[in-house]
Amino acid sequence: MKQIQFNYKNREVLLHDIRRVKQWCQQNMSSAVTFEIYSEILDKPAIDVICETIRTEMPDAVYSGCTTNGNIMLGELSHSNICVVCTVFEYPDTKVTVMQRMLNQQNIKQVCDEVVEYVDANRWIKSVEMMITIRTVSTTELCKCLSAMRKDVELLGGGAFANDIDEQHAYVFSNDGESSNNSIVFRFMGGEDLHVCTFQISGWKTLGMEHVVTKSDGKVLYELDGQPAFDVYYKYLNIENDRNFFRNTLEFPLIYKNGDSTILRAPTGSNRDGSLMMTANIAEGTRVRMAYGDPETILRTVHAGSEDIARFQPQMIHIYSCAARRYFWGEMADGETKPFQSIAQTSGFYTSGEFLRKDTDLIQHNVTLVIGVFREGDTVAGMDSTVDLQGFHISKQVSLISRLANFIDISTAELEEANRKLEQMAITDGLTGLLNRMKIQNDIIDCIDNKRLDTALIMIDIDDFKQVNDTYGHGEGDDVLKGLSKSLQSTSEKLGVNALIGRWGGEEFMICITGEAAARAAEIADQYRLEFNEIEFRNAGRQTITAGVSILTEQDNAEQLCKRADDALYLGKRNGKNKVVVL
Ligand code: GH3
Ligand code: MG
Ligand code: MG
Repeated sequence: MKQIQFNYKNREVLLHDIRRVKQWCQQNMSSAVTFEIYSEILDKPAIDVICETIRTEMPDAVYSGCTTNGNIMLGELSHSNICVVCTVFEYPDTKVTVMQRMLNQQNIKQVCDEVVEYVDANRWIKSVEMMITIRTVSTTELCKCLSAMRKDVELLGGGAFANDIDEQHAYVFSNDGESSNNSIVFRFMGGEDLHVCTFQISGWKTLGMEHVVTKSDGKVLYELDGQPAFDVYYKYLNIENDRNFFRNTLEFPLIYKNGDSTILRAPTGSNRDGSLMMTANIAEGTRVRMAYGDPETILRTVHAGSEDIARFQPQMIHIYSCAARRYFWGEMADGETKPFQSIAQTSGFYTSGEFLRKDTDLIQHNVTLVIGVFREGDTVAGMDSTVDLQGFHISKQVSLISRLANFIDISTAELEEANRKLEQMAITDGLTGLLNRMKIQNDIIDCIDNKRLDTALIMIDIDDFKQVNDTYGHGEGDDVLKGLSKSLQSTSEKLGVNALIGRWGGEEFMICITGEAAARAAEIADQYRLEFNEIEFRNAGRQTITAGVSILTEQDNAEQLCKRADDALYLGKRNGKNKVVVL
């Protein structure tokens, strides 16, 4: 493929450039010609002139574009408002088409279904790039529906935007529709000899402890760990709730994992109630950490990613970069995109949301570089593309920030591990390894009072256990307790029942059975009794247990159910021990 990238000045100059392309196509082999048009300004008339000129001069060419928060041309942030990227594909089988659809909350599924079907029916398609005016729809719904697309297709794209981040309007356009501020454009590329690959690079790293999203609604993040989300930023970073909030938090977005993908969400503002407006949705239950953006670390990560890209030997690179990255870098935004131009012709734009599907889910990213790389024909052996590192300006020294962040991360991991162990200890009985009294009691309450599951309790007490201690010593007594514990666990496993087993105290045990098995609790208890009696202890020989069983009724609460099991056990003891009584 061949590509030229130029700034749009006026119709005459554009006409001249298009005619040069036309001439080249007439003299050389070409299969498809595409134009991508990126505009930093919402200048609909100018965009219409460009579209009209391409349409009349090269009716077979495929054009598509959108308004942006900045245009990336030849790897750099262009100083021109409107940029045009023209690509001529040379392999006879390469094909490009576009589809543009109006998009609103009601027709998302219908539009997605149509695209998914189109990609299914056209097996030649290898990549789908989309440009979308994201303010008009729920992108969560869109991502969910588009995830159904044929899995061997690379799916990526970006949200249209405007130079002013507060601007509500943005446009997409193509030769399948007018410039529109509530539409989606899909560009399909493929063919035998076109090869496509996608990459996701952020460079932001995790910092500090994990927080759980306990309340959120779409893009509004209300609570982390049950506290107003803003408090986390104030507590850990001393970031005030003022007009600099966006700028200050940009270096510290939230980060989490979704399968293989790392997702970043940046706050764009904070509300009086302590909730935060995020760049995109963040679901309740998500476990997030803060991330930090350190220029040195980001450049190192981008550099490592660019080496992977170079190995693909692309001829064309499309970058969908987040507007937040442009803000983060300020004047130096070029630094992380320029080196890509040393690998292949690089173009793209700063978006209001980057989209990429890895494996199964199409995900809307923020603060991320989503990169599509394209090549016609096979790689050439021995012709390793090298990355020109000059643009990266990476110093040999690891930055102080990076070292401190590493220190915090490792310390946090150690603390989290210690906490996990403490939590485990807090619910475990030391001698037997079973659940302790507090834990099994809470579990019973949870099963009955909160979830209303089918539940039965089996309360077990070792018969004449005092004699074991008195005759053979406490050590032997402990062995019997451990032996019973193991026996209860292995019998439950053998029977395949869902049993929570706890030590109630001394030589008493409580087992909470849930699910269908609850109705068979008496049989199960008898099985416990028989299996335990099989054990031959070193000195104490065979021992017996008595079990009291209670099965949950409509009227029961946890306390009543426990009381009935206790009463049943007492009856069993009074009536000769070594038996099961149900009450
Ligand atoms: P019953 O058949 O009526 O249950 O008689 P019992 O002897 O089993 O009941 P009793 O309540 O008289 O004695 C229970 C004994 O359990 C007393 C106590 O020393 C012993 N015990 C409690 N906890 C432990 C422990 O952790 N290890 C050992 N070895 N013995 C324990
Ligand atoms: Mg006893
Ligand atoms: Mg007892």
